[in-house]
Amino acid sequence: RDFALPEDEAKAAWEADRQHLLHPWTNFASFKERGSFLVSGARGVHVYDTTGRQYLDGMAGLWCVNLGYGREDIVEAIADQARRMPYFTPFVDVGSLPAADLAKEIARIAPGDLNHVFFTCGGSTANDSAVRLIHFYHALRGKKDKRRLLVQMDSYHGSTYLTHSMSGRHTARSPLLNFETEMVQTLRSPNTYRRPEGMDEAGFLDLLISEMEERILSLGADTIAAFFAEPLMGAGGVIVPPRGYHARVQGLCRKYDILYVSDEVVTGFGRLGHFFASAEHFGLEPDIIISAKGITSGYQPLGAVIYSDRMQAVLNAAPEEAWFTNGFTYSGHPVVCAAALATIRAMEAEDICGHVRENGPKFETALKSLLDIDIVGDVRGSHFMMCVEAVADQKTKELFAPKADVGHRIADHAHELGLIARSIGNLIVLSPPLIFTEDHIAETAATLRE
Ligand code: PLP
Repeated sequence: RDFALPEDEAKAAWEADRQHLLHPWTNFASFKERGSFLVSGARGVHVYDTTGRQYLDGMAGLWCVNLGYGREDIVEAIADQARRMPYFTPFVDVGSLPAADLAKEIARIAPGDLNHVFFTCGGSTANDSAVRLIHFYHALRGKKDKRRLLVQMDSYHGSTYLTHSMSGRHTARSPLLNFETEMVQTLRSPNTYRRPEGMDEAGFLDLLISEMEERILSLGADTIAAFFAEPLMGAGGVIVPPRGYHARVQGLCRKYDILYVSDEVVTGFGRLGHFFASAEHFGLEPDIIISAKGITSGYQPLGAVIYSDRMQAVLNAAPEEAWFTNGFTYSGHPVVCAAALATIRAMEAEDICGHVRENGPKFETALKSLLDIDIVGDVRGSHFMMCVEAVADQKTKELFAPKADVGHRIADHAHELGLIARSIGNLIVLSPPLIFTEDHIAETAATLRE
């Protein structure tokens, strides 16, 4: 299929974008200079620019188009629901069939007693809503002071004001604004590669845990509501915590009556070979899982706060005057839920998680082969969630000067060679559609090597 546009149409679209559209996460200096790369179509694991040129999508859009592009089953489910009933209010006492069906399906595939779900419009609003739910839950338990949130430096939980303040280093890109709030307490990043010099992995783990416990004790456990973490950090640089980290953090949370929230916006829906990585990959039993992105394979915007029977028991006992006053017009949008139902059906019918469990380790091996290149300091991640860290010196892990712009230069060159990879500072991040085959894996590694 040819997605090429006539040159004047392509130029007009590029100008419209440049003149009228404020993109998410804009750096104005670079946008002014470069404008946008416009994509005019996509099929399978490929996207096409306005000249019709094909690129291998190493980012699944933005960690989300897990089943690839052009899935007629998902498109049909969306169209069918839009024809039948595009929308009706989701507010209490009213509902739609797709939202109810999807809630049941999520309860089926979620681990442990996570049998309840609140729908939002994406990952940020899901994390934001989780905080609202957590505060409500603690207040119902007579623990109104339990409001603080423990988060990790480098984590990314979203772009609403609150979730951005929960997103460690990312706020540094907005030096003109102050996102600090008493409510959010940021802990050291569990970045094993960049642990203090001379410290081994076990020592680093002890340090992280003792710092966390000290923080809990100094703030007072009765002021701390929840701990939020991605099982494997994504946008912060595919950061792999030291072995045993999750279990020990969960132990602290249990000890101090702190809810454990696992932000699986990226790691969920197959990226690490399971519907949810928390339980099956990391052995965790979170109180809440946050989902978005892959839950509809990126075909529609959806977020989900998936929470436990234990929490529901407290909500069920709420007094008559207590309302959970959180909700969006598009919570549980029927068309969006239809897309998620079709995604779950396809994932199971095609054993996408099995494919990732089989091919993810091949992806890791192919990328790790790049470690013989002298500017590659680290290759890390798991399954179809990987990152290559560029350094000026492999031994000392010293970084290139920021003005060398090494991440951008590598990603730009990959782009010229037909591969979409994402640069974050000195990192090249890869999170391809989960239908990547051995050929796509080999092509990605070969392009990055070049
Ligand atoms: N949480 C994590 C772990 C994410 O990676 C993201 C987005 O990249 C979000 C939350 C925010 O999700 P959204 O962009 O759908 O609001």
